Amino acid sequence: MEAVSVEARNIELSYGTTKVLRDISLTVLPGEFFALLGPSGSGKSTLLRLIAGFNQHQAGQLLVGGRDVTGVPPWKRNVGMVFQNYALWPHMTVAKNVAFGLEERKLPRDEIRKRVDAALALVGLSEYRDRRPNQLSGGQQQRVALARTIAVEPQVLLLDEPLSNLDAKLRVQMRHELRRLHDQLGITTIFVTHDQEEALTMCDRIAVMDQGVIQQIGTPEELFDRPVNRFVAQFVGSVN
Ligand code: ADP
Ligand code: MG
Repeated sequence: MEAVSVEARNIELSYGTTKVLRDISLTVLPGEFFALLGPSGSGKSTLLRLIAGFNQHQAGQLLVGGRDVTGVPPWKRNVGMVFQNYALWPHMTVAKNVAFGLEERKLPRDEIRKRVDAALALVGLSEYRDRRPNQLSGGQQQRVALARTIAVEPQVLLLDEPLSNLDAKLRVQMRHELRRLHDQLGITTIFVTHDQEEALTMCDRIAVMDQGVIQQIGTPEELFDRPVNRFVAQFVGSVN
């Protein structure tokens, strides 16, 4: 499948009278691994959910693959999201969890089987297909959530703090696995994190957010060497 771009143009979003996203503009290039980095409450999840179709903006434009997706429901966007808490079905096996979205889409049985096998192989969980989520470690559950999203073959992969529930050692290991998976699939990926080190080590480019505003967009080197303001400098760690 061909990789697509994601473009936000002057997006504004409020909850009631509270402005949460202010004049958000960014372009994620086809196949790019892009981070939204910022402290808690800066609006990262709100922006990700907007791209997924779970939130609506009040002003501006959102384009996926050059198409304005305003008002297009999540399941018609070719966008797949992995939630922070994984949101697996506890009563279903690993294979059933991965198959769920495919059954919803009423794909043929052998196609479902093929995609489930491929997705589980990709995340290294072929041996675990008949287990239930509570029989897996945190890292394995994380991989099931990834496999489930990848199985529907989205054009854009959205990851909301996918490593934050893991212990420190696994978190570092999964950085490499996520990046490898991205490179293998070549899928446009937007990765939300509050962890500077994660963003700096994993991503092609980073948008640094604070209080609903994008402070700077750049490569890890650009942000580190030439931060545009004190917030960015402090947050990416080039000054104390
Ligand atoms: P982040 O993911 O960067 O931690 P969020 O996007 O979750 O930030 O939240 C940004 C701001 O929007 C916060 O101030 C949060 O309290 C507020 N917010 C998030 N979701 C809602 C909601 N459903 N209703 C009202 N306010 C919300
Ligand atoms: Mg969040």
